[in-house]
Amino acid sequence: MYHQARYDEPLLNEIKGIGNENFEIPLDKDLVRDNLEIPNIPEYEVVRHYTRLSQMNYGVDINIYPLGSCTMKYNPKLNEEIAKMFLYLHPYQDESTVQGALRIMYELQEMLKEITDMDAFTLQPAAGAHGEFTGMLIARAYHEYKGEGEKRKNVILPDSAHGTNPASAAMAGFNVIEIPSNNKGMIDLEALENVVDDTTAAFMITNPNTLGIFEEDILEIAKIMHKNGALLYYDGANLNAIMGITSPGKMNFDIVHLNLHKTFSTPHGGGGPGSGPVGVRGELVDFLPVPIVNYDGEKYYLDYNVKHTIGKVRSFYGNFGVLVKAWAYIKRLGGEGLKRTAIRAVVNSNYLKEKIKGYYDIPHKDLRKHEFVAKPKNGRALDVAKRLLDFGVHAPTIYFPLIVPEALMIEPTETERKETLDKFAEIMIRIAKEAEENPEILEGAPHNTAVRRVDDVLASRRPVLTWKMYREMKEKGLIDY
Ligand SMILES: *Cc1c(COP(=O)(O)O)cnc(C)c1O
Repeated sequence: MYHQARYDEPLLNEIKGIGNENFEIPLDKDLVRDNLEIPNIPEYEVVRHYTRLSQMNYGVDINIYPLGSCTMKYNPKLNEEIAKMFLYLHPYQDESTVQGALRIMYELQEMLKEITDMDAFTLQPAAGAHGEFTGMLIARAYHEYKGEGEKRKNVILPDSAHGTNPASAAMAGFNVIEIPSNNKGMIDLEALENVVDDTTAAFMITNPNTLGIFEEDILEIAKIMHKNGALLYYDGANLNAIMGITSPGKMNFDIVHLNLHKTFSTPHGGGGPGSGPVGVRGELVDFLPVPIVNYDGEKYYLDYNVKHTIGKVRSFYGNFGVLVKAWAYIKRLGGEGLKRTAIRAVVNSNYLKEKIKGYYDIPHKDLRKHEFVAKPKNGRALDVAKRLLDFGVHAPTIYFPLIVPEALMIEPTETERKETLDKFAEIMIRIAKEAEENPEILEGAPHNTAVRRVDDVLASRRPVLTWKMYREMKEKGLIDY
């Protein structure tokens, strides 16, 4: 608009003249710069540049995206259409004019309660890590209220934990204590009992854990925590494996966060909007952030009346568009559909694991949930990941969880068909054979991509993220392209 105002003023005046009297140039002339230092190129070059970039890109709309722990599943486009219907709402609108939006939020809270068996939810947190942080603030406020804030300073985590867990606990002011896993890849009960005492605020775990293994002793673990007056926190970023089958509530967890942008259908990655609602039960309900969305039998409203609330954790009411998509996704699938989704996620993961089992090492227990961890028999995980790109598929997560060296963490998700899984397995097997017979191919990979193997050290030391950075580095002779 502002560009047009600069270059096409006569044309704009003409448009105004033919019946668009309300047409206003939005910026005051004094605010407009004359010499903006950006490349000066024709429109078609800009279009070609971005079209070329989009063709070099990879996404789940192109092929399988088996990035473990990330749940890069295909998300129905219908959900986007439904979210778009709410584009023109403004968070400052009066409650009476946004009853539909509030109803969606209320119903989503109710549905998440049912899925997790928690007593109440906040939809504010904007991502999984933000949900963890919120959950930890609730744990802190709860212990403070009980007069044990000074004493309960420790949060325990297994060594298979997602990296955000220790960060969230530390940011909320806790000391982090890590305990080792046992030889089955599960929590070592003895190690846990050795560290739990009246200084423990909470134990944070994800179940199934990051190896895709279900913690069978979870009820015993809950008993140990509660006996010691500590809380049990559920990292429910990936609920795909269990929804409709069991729940954090049935496992006796006290606080839960979910990643709507993983399990409940919002495309993510690249920093797009996420949502990490937090559910709690029992006395913890009184500590949730405000406002909660409530219904008085006639109208929906923002309820600021939460007795010991930790306050607000985000501006306005959360990433509303993501909430709409989750609502639409759950409504469309229903309880039975969610359960089938979980079953399919687990079947797909185990099917793929069985197909590649002879060619990769699969440490720990056999049966997996929504994901599994494999190791190359020859060569490095990094090289396998790079070689996969040559075949037009995205690599799995590598070098995580930290307890498996050279880990390839594979999550096929429920949305992939058998044919796609077969093709992916075929490529994985071919790469395993190459690693044994012809390892140079892997070490030089990728060979067929638009950008060859990047120098990740240089990329972090001398990042070229903008055109200005590019020009500066070029002038200094630091880059030669
Ligand atoms: C993705 C993930 C998180 C973090 O979620 P973000 O939305 O990326 O902050 C936490 N825990 C687990 C197990 C995850 O997979």
